[in-house]
Amino acid sequence: MMERKPIKLILSILLVFLIIFMTACSQARQSPVTDKVSKTNIKMDTVVSITLYDWEDSTTIDRAMDEIDRLEALLSVQKEGSELYKLAESAGTAWIAISPETSEVLNIAKKYLLLSNGYFNITVGPLVSLWDIHNGKGHYPNDVEREAAIEFVTCGNLLLKEDEAYLECAGMRADLGAIAKGYIADKVKELLLNEGVEHAIIDLGRNILLIGGKPDGSDFNIGVQDPLSDEGEILTVLNANDKSIVTSGIYERYFEYEGVRYHHILDPYTGYPSDSGLASVTIVSDTSTAGDALSTTCLLLGLDEGMELIESLPETEALFMTTDGEVYMTDIEISLPLSYNR
Ligand code: AMP
Ligand code: MG
Repeated sequence: MMERKPIKLILSILLVFLIIFMTACSQARQSPVTDKVSKTNIKMDTVVSITLYDWEDSTTIDRAMDEIDRLEALLSVQKEGSELYKLAESAGTAWIAISPETSEVLNIAKKYLLLSNGYFNITVGPLVSLWDIHNGKGHYPNDVEREAAIEFVTCGNLLLKEDEAYLECAGMRADLGAIAKGYIADKVKELLLNEGVEHAIIDLGRNILLIGGKPDGSDFNIGVQDPLSDEGEILTVLNANDKSIVTSGIYERYFEYEGVRYHHILDPYTGYPSDSGLASVTIVSDTSTAGDALSTTCLLLGLDEGMELIESLPETEALFMTTDGEVYMTDIEISLPLSYNR
């Protein structure tokens, strides 16, 4: 009888340990293994990544990625069968039916055409096709080709009715490369907000859109690339919360011809890549559609006119870098000093 006591004691201790162990295991299973989920894909010809903080269900990101595909299939003029593709195909011959989304982007794009005195012009499509800049390659056009393409940019207008669009003359082509990513980022944010996400980074290449800040209440820190560094060095880090940060730069897409670099943001008046003296423009704004349109617009307008435009707009800030390496900023909060010191 005397011997049973220690056995009982040992069994009770073991039982207590077992209970503690099982509770710990079940807690480990219930609590999130990680407090964020993230996925990266190649879409819209760029690296797209979405990170949700304080969130476990990665299928939310799958739905966001599907939304990107759905909108790209409407808005990319390169995608056969898209509404923009059909618009170019029917140029000069027929109006085509468009979805509310396409109608919305086209209307916004027309607003920036006016705001930029014609520099931001989505019907620059024939020039985009002519220069054909991608993967470090491109075509250096001769004067005849360039003037013929300018003729297709200027021969008519993009006309819009509520659910129809028309390009006035054959050969015209609308290209949403300067605004579609921003619009799509805003739509993805809308979807994620509807799903209840409160902290996220939507990164569509150089279009970054934030939902809230970090779960601990602090700002997200977003790096801005030095446009004049071939190694992609960081120029500075911006602190932001619930904002869009979009950068347009002459380093994003370019090719070299006879030792000279030609980039992808084209001056619709000259038919050459913009020579405004700016190497990059970063816009901090509420929506990514505005940020995307404005970054391209400012790059085309140059420092003085670009700065004037940004200062006239509420809730919009900008960081400009000239091709000489000078940096100009409006009211932007940075957490790393500007690293530019050439
Ligand atoms: P982003 O990188 O947003 O500045 O947009 C550049 C893209 O916009 C180019 O790759 C072209 O597809 C298109 N684009 C080029 N020049 C213009 C322009 N003057 N106005 C509007 N879109 C343009
Ligand atoms: Mg843009």
